[in-house]
Formats: sequence, C-alpha cells, structure tokens
Amino acid sequence: MTCLTLGIAGCQGPQRPVPGVIVREDTITIEQLALRLGLGIEQRDDTFVVMKNAANTVIVFTHTDGRFFVNGKPMGNVGAVKQSADTVYVPATLVEQIRPLLRSAVPEQPTVKPQKTKGLVVIDAGHGAHDPGAISPGGIREKDINLRVAAKIANLLERRGVGVVMTRWQDRFIELEDRAAVANQRNADLFVSIHADSAPSSSAQGFTVYVATAASANAYRAAHAINQAMEKTGMDNRGIREADYRVLVQTNGPAVLIELGYLSNAQDAARLADDGFRDRMAQAIADGIQTYLR
Ligand SMILES: [Zn+2]
Repeated sequence: MTCLTLGIAGCQGPQRPVPGVIVREDTITIEQLALRLGLGIEQRDDTFVVMKNAANTVIVFTHTDGRFFVNGKPMGNVGAVKQSADTVYVPATLVEQIRPLLRSAVPEQPTVKPQKTKGLVVIDAGHGAHDPGAISPGGIREKDINLRVAAKIANLLERRGVGVVMTRWQDRFIELEDRAAVANQRNADLFVSIHADSAPSSSAQGFTVYVATAASANAYRAAHAINQAMEKTGMDNRGIREADYRVLVQTNGPAVLIELGYLSNAQDAARLADDGFRDRMAQAIADGIQTYLR
C-alpha cells in the first residue's frame, strides 16, 4: 500500500482544512445517480442514458418528466431535469425510487439471509481529488476503485435496511480527521474505510482487513466477519492485521480498514477493474458487515 510506505499514520494527503463533509443534495448528476445505484453508464446521448450492471438495465430519458425504465418496464418519471454544459442534473430522490426496483447483481450468499438489519454504518471511500492513492501500471486509480466499491456496499446495505452514511459520493478530498468525525458525530455502529494496496513487488496480492492495535473486541468481530465473507470472492486472503491508520485510531466506535487487493499486481488489478468482480467484493463486504450487525 502506498499508505504503509508513508508510515503507519495512514494514507493522508496534504493537510488543509475542508469545510463540511456531508451534503445532502436535492439534485445529482447522471454519473452520481449511476454510482449510487451500483450501475455503470453503458451508453448516452442527448436524449437518454443507459446504465447497467450484471443483472439490471436502467434507461433514463434526460428531459423534464421523461420516463425511466427498469429492466424493460416503464417505472416512472424523472421529474425536473436541469442541464448545464454537458452535465445533466436529476432529482436525488430518483435513487430511492429506482433502487428497490433493481435485482441483486450477484446471488445472495446463503450464509446471509436477506432479512432487514438495523444499524448505522459509515462507509469511507479512501483518497479523492488530488490524492489518487495507489495507481496500477495500467493507470487505474485507487480513489476511483474505492468509490465504486464503497458505493456498491452502501447500495446493498441500504437495500437491506441498514442506515448508511458515505464520507464522500464524489471525487472529493476529505481530511482523515473529517472522515473519522463523520462516524463519531453519528455514533456509528461501524466505520469501514475502503482502500486498495500497492507494493514494490508485483507478486504481492490479496485483500487485508486492518484494525487499530488497540482495537475493541467489536472491531475484531467486524474484521473477522468481513474477512470470512471476502474469502468467498476467490481473492487471496492476507488475514486480519493491526495498523494504527489515522482513520482507525480517531474513530471512537468500532472501525476497520479494508485493502481490497493490490493494484501493483496484474491479477488483482484486473479484478478490481472489472465491475462484475467489484459487485462480488461489495456483496461480500456487505454480507460481513450485516453478519457483524446481527
Ligand atoms: Zn489507500
């Protein structure tokens, strides 16, 4: 991880104050809508956008009161649409309208029943903006992988009834202290920071779940549940390790940091670049979190 080579204080970028972290927007861009739904943008032109994952196709007509289709059926109207240069804004409420209509992208794990779970989890997509984190030889940026996987986890948990707060929904820089503060302010049941690794040797591969050296029993329990669930993805399991990353140390409640895999390793990087595989990883992490919350 680029993070560890900088020392155990975490993957912090330059230090500068950033105002408020969480903004609940009334409108979001089409790109944010796709991200929040765990979908990729497959096709777009002036009149419509096609978003997909392994199990769903959503078509949104991008004019005011245009229709949206989920898996071939007209399901509603998009409401007010605003356009500014090439950016199209739609109501943020579309996320809640469309999400329940989506099919699960991967089969539910048999170990986790699709029943509702209570709790509040903060999902933290590591890095952002001028801080890209690790970069693969092919140019895949850690900050982008982190956000995509984090958004998928958030989406799955919300569908299962778990309260979720994301520290960022956009390509935005947030101080490590502010990330931890989100969990502290909300008194979250769990803080989960999502990262991807890098090492000088291209042979290093696999996922790692970190807790702080002075972590609570609950943090270990969460790490164990997530580690066990992630094992099913087929990624190499590097185990549960201790490191005093700043986001782990500054979080009052249970906190874990997941390194999804090594961007410096060809196989891991190919998997992390694959949206279907990211779905599987997100599903595993959501399963682990849900197991912990029970
Ligand atoms: Zn990182």
